[in-house]
Amino acid sequence: MDSTDILVAGGGTAGLAAAAAFGSLGLRVTCVDPAPAETPDGPDADLRTTAILTPGRALLEAAGLWDRLAPEATPLRVMRIVDARGTPVRRDFDAGDLGDQPFGWNVTNAVLKRAFAERLAGMPNVALRRGTGFAGRVAQVDEVTATLSDGSRVAARLLVGADGRDSAVRRACGIGVRTTRYGQKALVFAVTHDRPHGGVSTEVHASGGPFTLVPLPDHDGRPCSAVVWMTDGVEALRLKGLPDEEFARAVNARSAQVMGPLAPVGGRQLWPIVTQVADRVTARRTALMAEAAHVVPPIGAQGLNMSLGDLRTMIDLARARPDDIGEESWLAAYARAREPEIRLRAFGIDALNRASIGGLGPLRALGLRAMHGIGPVRRGLMQLGLGLR
Ligand SMILES: Cc1cc2nc3c(=O)[nH]c(=O)nc-3n(C[C@H](O)[C@H](O)[C@H](O)COP(=O)(O)OP(=O)(O)OC[C@H]3O[C@@H](n4cnc5c(N)ncnc54)[C@H](O)[C@@H]3O)c2cc1C
Repeated sequence: MDSTDILVAGGGTAGLAAAAAFGSLGLRVTCVDPAPAETPDGPDADLRTTAILTPGRALLEAAGLWDRLAPEATPLRVMRIVDARGTPVRRDFDAGDLGDQPFGWNVTNAVLKRAFAERLAGMPNVALRRGTGFAGRVAQVDEVTATLSDGSRVAARLLVGADGRDSAVRRACGIGVRTTRYGQKALVFAVTHDRPHGGVSTEVHASGGPFTLVPLPDHDGRPCSAVVWMTDGVEALRLKGLPDEEFARAVNARSAQVMGPLAPVGGRQLWPIVTQVADRVTARRTALMAEAAHVVPPIGAQGLNMSLGDLRTMIDLARARPDDIGEESWLAAYARAREPEIRLRAFGIDALNRASIGGLGPLRALGLRAMHGIGPVRRGLMQLGLGLR
């Protein structure tokens, strides 16, 4: 039987980041995932992009990951919210209000996964095993033994469940989830446009959910943005299946021309939208993180950034108490730090999503203009969104 310090179940963006971060502390790490490595242009390629917010960057730097991402990361300097119903209302939240750093950087998930896997390949103390997944666990006081789907077993001080929203680790621990469904899906694709995006990320609200444009590097010499279009599930399926020309017409009608004419490029992908929070984030010798612990609608770039928050807490605890990793009071400290924060953010994003489905109704009542117009309120909202307070 193999033995390691940390066994990470899940080689998605969160699991790979966890393997690199623990590995950078000099710990022995094994990361397992039943799925093969993605081929960037293959049918299974993840077309999503991830806006990494400022607090996440420091963690990625410490894990030796940021340098690999920086050349392909597009800075996000302005978050623009457009209420497109009736007479359009447009408000800009400018990172310049908070300091000289952008809000964050947008990176394609394909680049993220490739860069993370390359970093792990250069770490002798980290093993990435694809083609085999977590199947079961027996936890004792001082270690956990996991059985993998290929029949092999690995003993570890800590099992990290980063195996996604249907987490087998979570199920093996008997931890339940609370799930809210909205009947919505997110349609993900890219567009080119004539006008440079200038580092502006734009959320256009009408009804049914936001239509968000997020800056990407140029595509074939033309300015390019990623789009996340959240809408009713049946409508999303219809849109995904439209012929190219009709699809382009629908996209331009929904974008309210905020970036001028848009030309869709590349594939289209659908992602179901749910809010899901695990009842607990720990069990004996086991910690859940990322989508295994929390799934939120893709609003305000919170998903992976909350996951990096989970990871930062674990890494801080591992630095402060290296001998106690995975032990009961170490895990209790992790749960104390993360569970209230996860619930609060999931609650806030759920409320924002409901507001957006209704065409920003409650936000209109609160007044987009007023929220934006009062400097301290505006700056407070931006800091909250970034996880700086
Ligand atoms: C449309 C959309 C846009 C988004 N945009 C942003 C954004 O801008 N910013 C942001 O912060 N977040 C964003 N998110 C959220 C972010 O993409 C996710 O939080 C993140 O990618 C999920 O990471 P994960 O590693 O937890 O889950 P996954 O990516 O689902 O990875 C889980 C991994 O676990 C593996 N696995 C499954 N079963 C097992 C097993 N038994 N054993 C071991 N491994 C297993 C799977 O093969 C998979 O590789 C967005 C999400 C969506 C849907």
